[in-house]
Amino acid sequence: MTASFRRVYLLSCQASAPPRGHFARHGPADRGSVEGVITTCPRCFSADDVTYERLPDQLVDFACSRNHDEDGPFRWIAALGDLDHHEQADAGITDELLDPLSDCVAAGEPWVEYGIVEYRFRLRHPDLFAAHVRERGHRMLGPHKVTASGVRFAMALGRLSERGELVRIYGPATGAWAPQDITYWARPPGPPTTSRVTWATWCADHGRSPDWTDADRAGF
Ligand SMILES: [Zn+2]
Repeated sequence: MTASFRRVYLLSCQASAPPRGHFARHGPADRGSVEGVITTCPRCFSADDVTYERLPDQLVDFACSRNHDEDGPFRWIAALGDLDHHEQADAGITDELLDPLSDCVAAGEPWVEYGIVEYRFRLRHPDLFAAHVRERGHRMLGPHKVTASGVRFAMALGRLSERGELVRIYGPATGAWAPQDITYWARPPGPPTTSRVTWATWCADHGRSPDWTDADRAGF
């Protein structure tokens, strides 16, 4: 299929846009626009019903809610610096991640940075974590255009959010995850936005380095 993205810069929208990298599912006013770029659906070539979520590692999860010849909504993933190239997001491949990742966000705790959720998941389900990282890569192993954090683990967390099981806010990533804006997760309705635990703070409290170590990379 030919990628068919239109790029149109919306100066009027940029003036009132939230700070760079802070995104949520957008309503009609901002639909289909990532950092001033309008993105059309590769299935129906319309931007009218496109929404998006930022994923870790400069990836974006797009969804077009149209019906697409009875196939239903279409979902795809692209890298922020290269929106012209995309891959279809396959929800089925994240099915096995939903319950394990949901268990990694506890009721009553502050917003926890994405890296904490992923690390808890990795400790509890090392084989499952390793299988997805071997398939899609991870920033601990060096630069990847796509990572398991983006297209697998954060996609699964996004599905849990759509189901109402989890809620999220965006904030700065810390330690090994910086620099980028990243999600912080909680059980609904979520604590006050000032009540947060960063990856770096959590690491200090749990006696591990906030950076990737040789022990992290072992086994891949
Ligand atoms: Zn579409």
